[in-house]
Amino acid sequence: MGPEFDFTSADVIAAEESLRIVARGLKGELELLLAEFGTASGYARMRDYLAESMPQVYRSYDAFVAAVLATGTERAACSQGCSHCCSHYVTSVEPYELLFLHDRVRESAEYPSRVIGLHRRAALFSSLRDARRDDQAEDRALYRYYLRNVPCPFLEEGGKCGVYDSRPMSCRMFFSLSHPSLCKGKAVIDPGNRNFLIELPEDIEADLARAGSLFARFALPESLFEGLLKINETFGQFDDAAT
Ligand code: SF4
Ligand code: SF4
Repeated sequence: MGPEFDFTSADVIAAEESLRIVARGLKGELELLLAEFGTASGYARMRDYLAESMPQVYRSYDAFVAAVLATGTERAACSQGCSHCCSHYVTSVEPYELLFLHDRVRESAEYPSRVIGLHRRAALFSSLRDARRDDQAEDRALYRYYLRNVPCPFLEEGGKCGVYDSRPMSCRMFFSLSHPSLCKGKAVIDPGNRNFLIELPEDIEADLARAGSLFARFALPESLFEGLLKINETFGQFDDAAT
């Protein structure tokens, strides 16, 4: 049985409205900034804008998710340090999230080893795709990847996310009502598994997706690991020029 939430509660509606304003603002500003994005100065302006705006986007997003969860008839089983779900191959990451996260990690001492970790996971995922190219091909590869139990390169000791404040929305929307042991390996397809996602209202989802589609010409992958690698490859020259 799926979780039950009250999307009509006053707190949810207020949080939803704040997120709606923030999502619209993001889309509008990106439209302006993208005209010059293919140049070093345009890239620097985009980075500055995302560094300033994305924390607010994520704060509003988290506030909405928290308001929805608070209306639930059951509590989510998720807690700090619980991290089986960090072995998923993270997908559906928007380009502006990739740029923001890349900017946050690119100057850290761990960056080179993280890039190697990203390469390894992207290669593993690619090797797990089968020859059949039907509608379920992606899901089969995602499941096989999950069974390999290869944690995200940003996962640190004690099950801590090393980029917690900058993690993408895909990581922020995923929860479980069942025991954490049912999030591990093959248990994810156990009938008792009650993983769920907090979905956004359609118009907000559409604004965030439109903001992402503005980057279409860069053909950035939607997966966290491949997407960060592509950012590194595509815009690394501008990072070098800025340092
Ligand atoms: S989704 Fe599962 S593994 Fe992830 S934090 Fe929640 S209970 Fe833990
Ligand atoms: S970015 Fe953080 S929350 Fe998301 S999968 Fe990686 S370690 Fe987990």
